[in-house]
Amino acid sequence: GVPCVIDCPLGPALLFVKTSQGEEEGRRFYACSACRDRKDCNFFQWEDEKVSETRLAAREEYNRNHQPPFTHRQNVERYKNFVLLPLSKRRFCQECQQLLLPAEWEKHLDHQFLCDISTAQLKSPSQLLYPLENKKTNAQYLFADRSCQFLLDLIIDLGFRRVLSVGTPRLHEMIQSKASQEDFRVRSLLLDIDFRYSQFYTEDEFCHYNMFNHYFFGGEAARETCRKFLYQDSGERVIMVTDPPFGGLVEALASSFKKLMAMWKETEKEGHNNQEMPVFWIFPYFFESRILEFFPSFSMMDYQVDYDNHALYKHGKTGRRQSPVRIFTNLTPSMIVLPVEEGYRFCTICQRYVSSGNQHCEICNSCTSKDGRRWKHCVLCKKCVKPSWFHCNNCNCCALQNHTCEKTDAVCFVCGKAGHKRSTCPSLSHT
Ligand code: SAH
Ligand code: ZN
Ligand code: ZN
Ligand code: ZN
Ligand code: ZN
Repeated sequence: GVPCVIDCPLGPALLFVKTSQGEEEGRRFYACSACRDRKDCNFFQWEDEKVSETRLAAREEYNRNHQPPFTHRQNVERYKNFVLLPLSKRRFCQECQQLLLPAEWEKHLDHQFLCDISTAQLKSPSQLLYPLENKKTNAQYLFADRSCQFLLDLIIDLGFRRVLSVGTPRLHEMIQSKASQEDFRVRSLLLDIDFRYSQFYTEDEFCHYNMFNHYFFGGEAARETCRKFLYQDSGERVIMVTDPPFGGLVEALASSFKKLMAMWKETEKEGHNNQEMPVFWIFPYFFESRILEFFPSFSMMDYQVDYDNHALYKHGKTGRRQSPVRIFTNLTPSMIVLPVEEGYRFCTICQRYVSSGNQHCEICNSCTSKDGRRWKHCVLCKKCVKPSWFHCNNCNCCALQNHTCEKTDAVCFVCGKAGHKRSTCPSLSHT
């Protein structure tokens, strides 16, 4: 429920709360839903703030200047003309990240450009475009081919025919290029904030979308495209796959995904009365509790999703760091078959595939490792913990050996003494 006068170029703003120390209730403000870095989007407004006419006008001007040079419709037309050109006339400006028609060459002469853009290149725009690198929220981490292929094979084996690709351009692209081959029945619709993709896909294949505020830039027509896509075959055999930026706000994402799932649910014919639209939400394992808070029906799979351009998170066999990124899904875990040749095995008690290092703990009665390493059970904590942790009697829980003990370090908020927190302050104990 955010008034549209305070839209930024990326759609309706979100309401945030700023709390400073000692303050009971924070002051509420609107900010851009997608860019949490002020440098990328300067939109900011206190909730109770009156905005002057001049500032509104300035904001409108700012929004106008931050619109893309062509509309999606125009880009589709341009693409049609582009593919008619002989190879020698197909250029892509790397600076403007734009396919160029010969009449436009002049304007880009002092820019770096690529020549002889082949059909194969047009079919893999994620290779042609450079990955966006905004550190906070908009960084693009592209699936390694192995992981992308695994996801697609899994989707096909599970019998899905349509994939709503939310922030997964590389998966979309893999599906699109196979769709031109015979016998390949899977279709995909890409929803992404990266408007550069509108140069390569029609309005039935790509919607410019902000997954932090469920905003379709193309208005009702785009929303309808998405709805139609979900409605085909009474909504059967469709799955949503999403790989949001990790800096993203889980709450905002969950709210948008619930809206997409609700859109699917409206298709409701006889079949899926109490069902949810199947979802793969790809996200780091340390967000597990946050995701489950919003989606109790989800569970986390052990599969480690790998990326091409994520230096830290390459598939690690020896020494190299392993990817912390996992698949969260509302499908029955036993259906998610993980590749045995990569060391995953089926735990018959947990009824799911787990990492090779993930040992079934008899006491927890579950395969407890989250990161793929073998975890150990702590009888005092009554749970399994990371192999590098030890039980600290001071903190009364497990922690890294060289941690600084919380209880002896911190000062109580109420009495100012060290050794306990506000909740256990002895000066409050008899009130
Ligand atoms: N691994 C995926 C890419 C994930 S990177 C793949 O290879 O296909 C995150 C993706 O989400 C990027 O494509 C990025 O453009 C998109 N994205 C980032 N912020 C977004 C937003 N607010 N709304 C919609 N998509 C967004
Ligand atoms: Zn913005
Ligand atoms: Zn198990
Ligand atoms: Zn255990
Ligand atoms: Zn412990």
